[in-house]
Amino acid sequence: MDYRYLGRSGLKITEITYGNWLTHGSQVENDVATACVRAALDAGITTFDTADTYANGKAEEVLGAALASERRESLEIFTKVYWPVGLKGPNDTGLSRKHIMEGINGSLRRLNMDYVDLYQAHRFDYETPLEETISAFADVVRAGKALYIGVSEWNAEQLRRGQLLAREAGFALVSNQPQYSALWRVIEPEVIPAAKELGMSQVVWSPMAQGVLSGKYLPGQPAPAGSRATDEHGGANTIKAYLDDSILTNVQKLRPIADELSLSMPQLAIAWVLQNENVATALVGASRPEQVAENVAASGVKIPAELMAAIDEALAPSIVNDPAKTLSPATRVA
Ligand code: NDP
Repeated sequence: MDYRYLGRSGLKITEITYGNWLTHGSQVENDVATACVRAALDAGITTFDTADTYANGKAEEVLGAALASERRESLEIFTKVYWPVGLKGPNDTGLSRKHIMEGINGSLRRLNMDYVDLYQAHRFDYETPLEETISAFADVVRAGKALYIGVSEWNAEQLRRGQLLAREAGFALVSNQPQYSALWRVIEPEVIPAAKELGMSQVVWSPMAQGVLSGKYLPGQPAPAGSRATDEHGGANTIKAYLDDSILTNVQKLRPIADELSLSMPQLAIAWVLQNENVATALVGASRPEQVAENVAASGVKIPAELMAAIDEALAPSIVNDPAKTLSPATRVA
């Protein structure tokens, strides 16, 4: 497993991170969750991504329990703040000082850890002055509760304003966590150039488009049993925009490209995001330990330029690259 630096920081993270959105505390039982974490560790993954809001706090608890016997210094733990955990009171959402301070304390309690490595603003908060948010993050860092600060789904202008204030407050934003895959490329025109200039990496979510780029969803056919598309806890709803026959038909055109590289389709999807040097890590989910074992083989893969072009051609009608699709909620009403 190869490591990359997180932004212009000294922190090294594994280029594949195990993420537990929609799985731990929800789609999969705790023993399977633990087995997935074990498979990740066995494959050399040391970086784990979660959020307070995943399964209303249960995802953090399950991850913390699964990692409890590991040496803390050998792990890089990412979590996030913005969305509510359970109750949706007026101060349970957003990036106010109150929600950030209560958020980090709740996350550390559920993870059963003294600090997280990366604390991320899960979205931009239009209702809280950015100065208040950044000064609260600075205090979280000074208190030793988070070592580094990042954001998620911020647009280029928000990254610039945030980084300026962070530097004035004596720290730096090291990362942005956007959706990015061969199908969803909205960060390429504006966010990536801004992040490079600002010394920030992308830590990218849903590199497999929630499983769609694994090629297991076939046009005109029902979703495979046990897949996210059949998960009534929430997965079926979040994946549905991708379950369009024209997208699924184009995804199948990637098979010969994967074969030429001797990769499986999931490995090709993950390797694709890692070709971008501004991507520090691909956040990959898994509902079974075998998936983790398969997916980690994407680390270190180089895709030649002519095959990158062939991927573009196969997916062209289904690729989304409009930078205006980098969005945070206009108000913080949950
Ligand atoms: P992926 O695109 O990697 O999708 C993962 C899902 O695909 C798995 O849960 C599994 O679902 C399926 N899958 C994984 N491996 C295979 C395989 N080898 N063969 C077939 N199917 C496979 O990412 P996620 O959508 O799970 O997101 C990854 C992480 O990104 C999250 O855990 C979270 O940490 C982060 N994230 C952040 C967000 C943000 O707003 N910042 C938003 C969303 C995610 P199944 O088996 O059920 O079909």
